Amino acid sequence: MTINKSFGKDLIFPLPLLRRRSEKIHHVNKEVFLDGLAISAARVLDGRVGLDLSIELSREEVLVTGKVAASWSGECRRCIEEVSGQLELAVSEIFLSTEQFKNEVNFSVEDAFPFKEIEGEEVIDLEEVVRDSILLALPFSPLCSEECQGPDPQRFPTDTTMEKKSPEKDPRWAVLDQLKFDKDNSA
Ligand SMILES: [Zn+2]
Repeated sequence: MTINKSFGKDLIFPLPLLRRRSEKIHHVNKEVFLDGLAISAARVLDGRVGLDLSIELSREEVLVTGKVAASWSGECRRCIEEVSGQLELAVSEIFLSTEQFKNEVNFSVEDAFPFKEIEGEEVIDLEEVVRDSILLALPFSPLCSEECQGPDPQRFPTDTTMEKKSPEKDPRWAVLDQLKFDKDNSA
C-alpha cells in the first residue's frame, strides 16, 4: 500500500499563485505529517494531522479558517497507563504582510501570523497555524478517567510491606522463647 505523505513544506502557499486563481477561496483538505507535535505528557500519533481549511484572500490579508484534527496518546498522570484521545479544533487565523504589522492599528497584531518570503515570493505557511493550535490543545496532564485512583497497589507495591513482615527470629534466642513458653504454661 502506498501512502502519499504530505509534510510541512506542503503547507506553504505562495500568494502570487493563490492570487492568480479565479476562486477567492482555496480549500486545503488533506493529511499532513509534522515532526515534534508533542508536549511532555502527550503526543500526536505519527505526527499525523487532518486538515479541512479554507484560505481566503482579501487585498491585504489572508484569512485561514476551518478545522484541524489529530489523535493523541499520552500517560495518565495518576496511574501511568496509556491514555488516548482525539482533537478536533476550530481554526480562525489571519496572516498579514510585514507592512501591515508595522502600520495597521486596527488589527490585534499579536494574534496574527506574518507573510513569509521564500525565494523572493510572498508565502503563507500554514504549518505554524496547525502546530500552534495542536500544541496548545494537547492535554497537559491527561487522566485515564476522572475516577482514576492512581497506581494499582498490586502492580506498584510500596516498601511498607517489608516493614510489616515480622523479622526472622534469631536462633540464639530460641532458648529464651522456650523458657517463656514453659513459664506461661506453668502459671
Ligand atoms: Zn489513570
